[in-house]
Amino acid sequence: MTDKTFYIETFGCQMNAHDSEKVIGTLVHSGYTQVESAESAELVVYNTCSIRDKAEQKVFHRLDQFKRAAGKGKVFAVIGCVAQQEGERIFEKAPHVSLVAGSASYTKLPEMLVQLEAGARRVTGLSLDTEETFDTPFTRRDNPHRAYITIIEGCDKSCAYCVVPFTRGPERSRTSESVMREATELAQAGYTDVQLLGQNVNSYRDPSPAGWDFATLLDRVGRIPGIRRVRFTTSHPRDFVKEIIDAIDDNPALCNHVHLPVQSGSSRVLSRMQRLYTRDEYMRRIEWMKNARRNIAITTDIIVGFPGETEQDFQATLDLLEQVEYDSLFSFKYSPRPNTAALAMEDKVSEEEKTRRIMIVNEKQRAIQIRRNSELIGTIEEVMVEGRNEALGQWIGRTSQNRTLNFTRLDSDGESLTGKYVPVRVTRAGPNSLVGEGVMSVV
Ligand code: SAM
Ligand code: SF4
Repeated sequence: MTDKTFYIETFGCQMNAHDSEKVIGTLVHSGYTQVESAESAELVVYNTCSIRDKAEQKVFHRLDQFKRAAGKGKVFAVIGCVAQQEGERIFEKAPHVSLVAGSASYTKLPEMLVQLEAGARRVTGLSLDTEETFDTPFTRRDNPHRAYITIIEGCDKSCAYCVVPFTRGPERSRTSESVMREATELAQAGYTDVQLLGQNVNSYRDPSPAGWDFATLLDRVGRIPGIRRVRFTTSHPRDFVKEIIDAIDDNPALCNHVHLPVQSGSSRVLSRMQRLYTRDEYMRRIEWMKNARRNIAITTDIIVGFPGETEQDFQATLDLLEQVEYDSLFSFKYSPRPNTAALAMEDKVSEEEKTRRIMIVNEKQRAIQIRRNSELIGTIEEVMVEGRNEALGQWIGRTSQNRTLNFTRLDSDGESLTGKYVPVRVTRAGPNSLVGEGVMSVV
């Protein structure tokens, strides 16, 4: 490689987005310059997702585009979940790829880069046998106000549909000291909004003698001077304890929003999914949130068409949506994944039926969101300003409950409000966002 330029494209979840920030930092520290297109890069990196088949296909589609002349002279790296899942098979499917590495091997990236630069044709990092986390001082963050912090990597659960335990390895928690150091440095650098990340943040266990659990870590991060908002994702219902709600009640810096994926409203399906909780146990956690002093927004993930899901099971999910009245949800059609227990299950649900069910879920949820959002008309919400929509003449904001609230402000006099916290009166509500008017001076 001569001029050491790289291009990176990221697929999938926030964990991947944040991993890419760390990979970019590591590459820049190793002398590479980031460029905006694959065409102009020497090194092309795809950070991949394999949670569903569609996501997995995207990387092969991208690689196909560079199979012939267009890819000449370039080095291709496939990292992340598809890399871990497919391993050396990627070299067979796409012979122009030179580096294949899963997230559990990212600490070895600098070594792998040296091997590539020395002309190695194929380099792999595929071991899952690790106790290390990818803890790097070189994270490159582009958003100057909001930052992700990984607190735990990997997953020790074995949900029957999920590929993550095979692609991200065993659970490894960072020490509370290293998380607190990173959060404090971020606050000192002007970040006010941090998001604690992990596949299952509630099973966080401080490996150092301090021995903090997740609720303690959450509370302490929220007490760092300068930090005004702390979010966390994702929580697993089995490990979700009441202390987390108590911490949110007691500490205004903790956002009043919990994402608690339920997957199904039927205990029979939950058991087949190996989710380790029943509908009743899940509902107990919802009750804690509904009984909290703060108005906590609740969001979730739903899978429709898991093998053996009957019409009655599906109705139980619809009934749960009505009962909880989620503020928002992500819905997915079940997608069979390699190595998972559900692959061998009978009674597959047809694609057509999955489509019918997901449309019903989305329609029902849309009506719930219209109802929930209209209840906020007339209230004053504090938003963190994320940017401006010039075409509409509106500022784009986000509430502590994670709702998008776009607003106008007559007195902002051309000054930029981005990154500021502003009180806004809600005047209109749609299914996916709110509209309002700024009411007082900037906080
Ligand atoms: N660790 C988190 C949890 O336990 O909920 C999230 C894991 S995953 C990145 C995010 C969501 O993808 C899951 O909550 C689930 O709804 C969905 N998902 C995972 N595997 C899936 C599959 N095989 N088919 C369809 N959706 C799936
Ligand atoms: Fe996948 Fe279940 Fe682990 Fe979440 S808890 S990452 S759904 S195996």
